Amino acid sequence: MPSSQLNTIQEIEALRAEIAKHDRLYHELDKPLISDAEYDALKKHLEALERAHPEFATASSPSAKVGGKPSSKFGKVQHSTPMLSLANAFSSQDVQDFLERVQKFLNLPTSAIELIAEPKIDGLSFSAIFEGGKLKVAATRGDGEFGEDITANALTIQTLPKEVSYIKHFEVRGEIYIDKADFLALNESRKALEEEQFANPRNAAAGSLRQLDPKVTASRPLKYFVWGGSIEGASSQWELLSKLKSLGFTVNEKIKLAQNSEDLDEYYSQLSQERGDLEYDIDGIVYKVNSFALQQRLGALSRSPRWAIAHKFPAASAFTKVLGITVQVGRTGALTPVAELEPVGIGGVIVQRATLHNEEDIERKDVRVGDLVEVERAGDVIPRVVRVELSKRPENTTVFTMPDNCPICGSPAPKEEGNVIRRCSGGIRCEAQIIECLKHFVSRNALNIDGLGEKQIEEFYRKGLIKTHDDIFKLGQFATSIQNWDGWGVQSVQNLLNAIDKAKNVDLDKFIYALGIRFVGEATAKILAKNFLSVESLIAGCSDVMYLSSLDGIGAKIATHIVEFFGNAQNIKLLKRLSSHLNIKDFEVQNVNSEISGKTLVFTGSLSAMSRQEAKSIAERLGAKVSSSVSAKTDFLVCGDDAGSKLKQARSLGIKVLTEKEWQRLINI
Ligand SMILES: [Zn+2]
Repeated sequence: MPSSQLNTIQEIEALRAEIAKHDRLYHELDKPLISDAEYDALKKHLEALERAHPEFATASSPSAKVGGKPSSKFGKVQHSTPMLSLANAFSSQDVQDFLERVQKFLNLPTSAIELIAEPKIDGLSFSAIFEGGKLKVAATRGDGEFGEDITANALTIQTLPKEVSYIKHFEVRGEIYIDKADFLALNESRKALEEEQFANPRNAAAGSLRQLDPKVTASRPLKYFVWGGSIEGASSQWELLSKLKSLGFTVNEKIKLAQNSEDLDEYYSQLSQERGDLEYDIDGIVYKVNSFALQQRLGALSRSPRWAIAHKFPAASAFTKVLGITVQVGRTGALTPVAELEPVGIGGVIVQRATLHNEEDIERKDVRVGDLVEVERAGDVIPRVVRVELSKRPENTTVFTMPDNCPICGSPAPKEEGNVIRRCSGGIRCEAQIIECLKHFVSRNALNIDGLGEKQIEEFYRKGLIKTHDDIFKLGQFATSIQNWDGWGVQSVQNLLNAIDKAKNVDLDKFIYALGIRFVGEATAKILAKNFLSVESLIAGCSDVMYLSSLDGIGAKIATHIVEFFGNAQNIKLLKRLSSHLNIKDFEVQNVNSEISGKTLVFTGSLSAMSRQEAKSIAERLGAKVSSSVSAKTDFLVCGDDAGSKLKQARSLGIKVLTEKEWQRLINI
């Protein structure tokens, strides 16, 4: 074989391997490493090479595939008709070419081909089959032919009808997504639990839907839009969507009929402008031939239908230079490398810093000071460095090494076992951690002190007025001197003191959250408040890992950190000082008159009339506490089918055991 051909086949093979790797990361692991645009570029390059060298094309090439293999942890579902992926258009010329192809294929005048334009929701495709008016099976797209059985998870999506008035067999196909606001809140709570954050709403939706435990899925704010399917009597896409809408399915309101390429262009530019204001992410527009008869005639190429195309929006990313790499120290001591950038506008916002996540990430992307990098900004997420433009690497780049010590206090900052993140071991000796703790203490979901933001905390700390949490409540004595500082005046100081005063009345759960105990986010703080009711009993009760980890929603890891926090004499002194300034309101148990209010319940075995999750929420609504393990403090064990060791334990402790029927009587169902 001549050497140029050898190079080509090597390049093709390398590209195939690279694409297959990214397919797996995207479809099976929900952890893409590269942006969609980069992926599309790889695929386009491979397709071009394969077209130029048809002798090297194979049926197993990733260019011939739709998506990922179904993951083996879920059951497989074969789609009634393949769920194909769409060909992409990146310019209005590409769209024009698509329309010409359609017209030629059908040999019809443009006026005879009605089109439909739909926003392309950035989510995860699904199919759901209904029979006898009931949702029977739901599946992901998978590889297009076989998807993963996600029926149990789809049932937790609130707005998806589970029962409809139409009893014949039909199928809906659509996109499951998480809207922008819910995505931010989800990442916020994951941050509090030190869990890995989702890169974008689509990954969050995919990760949420492909949970083995439907309870986790149920806790995620998943929504959907239908964009396809089949139902008797519908002769066009428009009719199908209208029919599905009348059955209670959510159809996107922006969908429009169009007659020609001018209509499509106008729709595209209108949606590009509205894009930022929509509640959900869209990454382009899908154009389809409206008539099913014409769709049928057009058919499909190997992996995408001839009757549709996705007109993609350009990704919100830009190239800029890395001026330096600095290290940020967080509230719990985590060290995060940050790229300091030459300011660049991305999607209407000037970006000067982008996260580099951790040292492994820097190493993998080989980011150096001086490099030209692509920076991406998805929604309101912290901008991130996507990749280095290696072809433009200058000669004098500097490799960055993560320090072994905290850059602020100098304490050793080792990695914890099995974790890629370095953590400063300085604790309360570390200024960075103290300042971050103070910022957290006054933040919106904690004490929520208006006018005391990150900037002010830093200023007061540097000037020595606030060194610890309780100093905030002694600021009044410095009022006259603060009034004379730059940017302050009589009124602004008074406003601040009023806000601090107001914040002195604080709910127990907000106070617990404000303490910034590692892994204790808002949800955990609420569980603690609900169980201990007052700050005194909280302090007294948080020494028992066994007890804490028996509370529903608190695992052993979190329990250990809580006990560690309350076992620290410094923290207890701080709590005492804070109690003298604050009025920490006891957690109010809703005064419900029920037979189980104030009681502790444990569920075991499977219930037939309701899910465990529903049973727990009913119990809590009726004023009961739900625990995950049986102890002397348990009042009732509710026993479903296949109860195991908990039943034995309850009997040996003489705890009252309820059957499912008795449980239903107790809650009046
Ligand atoms: Zn430190």
